[in-house]
This record gives sequence, C-alpha cells and structure tokens, in this order.
Amino acid sequence: MKKLTIFFCIMFTACVTSQDNSVHSPETYAASITAEELKEHLYTYASDEFEGRETGTSGEIKAINYLKAQYEALEIQGGMPNGDYFMPMSLNSYRDDKTIEATNVLAYIEGSEKPNELLVITAHLDHIGVEDDGQINNGADDDGSGTVALLELAEAFQMAVKAGVRPKRSILFLHVTGEEKGLLGSKYYTDNPVYPLENTVANLNIDMIGRIDDLHEDNPNYLYLIGSDILSQDLHDVSVAMNDAYVNLELDYRYNDPTTEVFERGRYRENRYYYRSDHYNFAKNEVPVIFYFNGTHEDYHAPTDTVEKIEYALMEKRTRLIFHTAWEIVHRDERLRLKD
Ligand SMILES: [Zn+2]
Repeated sequence: MKKLTIFFCIMFTACVTSQDNSVHSPETYAASITAEELKEHLYTYASDEFEGRETGTSGEIKAINYLKAQYEALEIQGGMPNGDYFMPMSLNSYRDDKTIEATNVLAYIEGSEKPNELLVITAHLDHIGVEDDGQINNGADDDGSGTVALLELAEAFQMAVKAGVRPKRSILFLHVTGEEKGLLGSKYYTDNPVYPLENTVANLNIDMIGRIDDLHEDNPNYLYLIGSDILSQDLHDVSVAMNDAYVNLELDYRYNDPTTEVFERGRYRENRYYYRSDHYNFAKNEVPVIFYFNGTHEDYHAPTDTVEKIEYALMEKRTRLIFHTAWEIVHRDERLRLKD
C-alpha cells in the first residue's frame, strides 16, 4: 500500500509537470494544424459554390461570410473597432475601370502583456472569378491555400488562449480582398489601419503554399521565403531558428532578388515577387514582412487550380512553420528590430 502511494505521488507529479510544460509549448498547438482540416476547409472554400471569389461579386460575399462564420465558431472576435469582422470599402479597379464594393475580413486576438504591439498575418480572400465561357477559377492554391492556413493558425492560437496561454502581443488575422485587381484590399487597410502601423511589428503574408513548382519536383520539402531579411535581420533570424527547431523545410530565398527570372506567360521575366502580393503594402510602410510562396505552376490563374492537386501534408508542414514563427514573434521579450 505504501509503495503504491509513493508510486501514485510520482505519477501525479509527473503528470502535473508534463501537463504544465505542454501548455506552454507551441508544439501542443501546432499539432492542431492538420492536413485533414486544411483539406476540409479548402474543399468548401475553393468549390464551385464560391464562384471563383472575384472581388465585388456574389462569390466574394460567400467567401467573407464563410470566414466570419469560422471565426464566430472559434469564438475569436472581429478586428474592427466596434468588434465587427467586416471592413467594407469602395475600390477603383484599374483593370476594370469601375468602382466596386468589397470587404476585408478581420479577426483579432488581444495580447496579454503588450496588447498595443501587433502581428498581422494576411492571405487574400479573393480570386479571379469565372471565365467568359463559364469555367470557374477555383483558386485552390491561389489563395485558397493561404486563406485556410490562416483559419488553422487562428484556431491554434485560440486553443492556446483557452488553455490559458494568451499571446503577449496581439494578432490580427487579416483576409484581404482585391489582391488580384492590384493589391487593393491590403492597400486599403494600410491606408486606413485599424491598428497603428508604427506598432505593427511584422506582417506574415501567405499566398500560395499548397503546390510544388517545376524546380522542386524532386525535392518537395521546400518553401520560398521572400523579404525576410530586407527590413529586419531579427525577423529573418527568428524564421531560420523556428524552422531549424521545429519544421526543417528547405527555405529557398532565390526570389529575394527581384531580378531573378521566372518563366511566366510564355517567356522569362524578372520575378518581382516582393512587389506582387499583399505584404508589399506593409513593407512600403516599414513593417518587416515575410512572403510565403510555393512558386508558380502550370495551373496558376487557370480553371485547373483545383483542390485535388493540393499537397495537404506539405501544406500542413508549411503552415506549422508560419505558426512557430508567429508564436515566437508574439511571445519573445524583445520587439523585432528594424535594420538601421
Ligand atoms: Zn495570390
């Protein structure tokens, strides 16, 4: 009997100790980001029902309502000053030469120790809609992949909050519209920031993370990172350290040089990716950014960018890298420093 009591004491102490450690370990929450859940979200979000999610259309309305419903289910509040999820705007599309009504979706987790310092994680909610012949551009990779990754990141951080581990800094999950019409939703946000840009410590932008490009057919364990060391060495160092500690993807920086050529629309041209997705609107305001990207592929901006071509296990790994990087940014003692 006595032996048994001691045994139980040891077991109890071990349980309490390990439970306490696991509550504070980001891996506990990273594990909630799964290929299955990414796939489940994407099979809805990039289905024909969403009509290619073109900005200013009924497809966009379906997309924003889907996102709002997910955050309500997670019990994460809206990111607008009055607690709303929707940031409405009138946009002038330079491609269509007309004014359209469009909406960003904002969800917000307030930080515990430095609530005024904010990490913004972005993905664009829109795509290019329906072709003249009726074919739907489902945009499973572009940017269904980034959109559902954002939902899984939010879920992971909210699980931590519910376990008593609130991020020290605040996090804005920002789904921007109008990317395909010229980065319009992210420009609207950075022109009309809900949270001051000078207190925005970084922007992690996810635009296409579900596929493998031609250059990596034989080595799919990769992700392109663009911009990580341009404004802040700290951000780059955090990113590298988190990858080494938790994920071990091959981080490919070749497109950090905007003149590196890519084969697009029938010819080689300068990639200029640093200027081509929503992070740029933050970077031009001196907010350090990382753009996560798998490169282009034959289905880029075509009706064949569909859900069954997505590599879900790889997407899980890539999303977990972003999670660990975000976790470190919001929990570390020092704010990320800009380069001099
Ligand atoms: Zn995109």
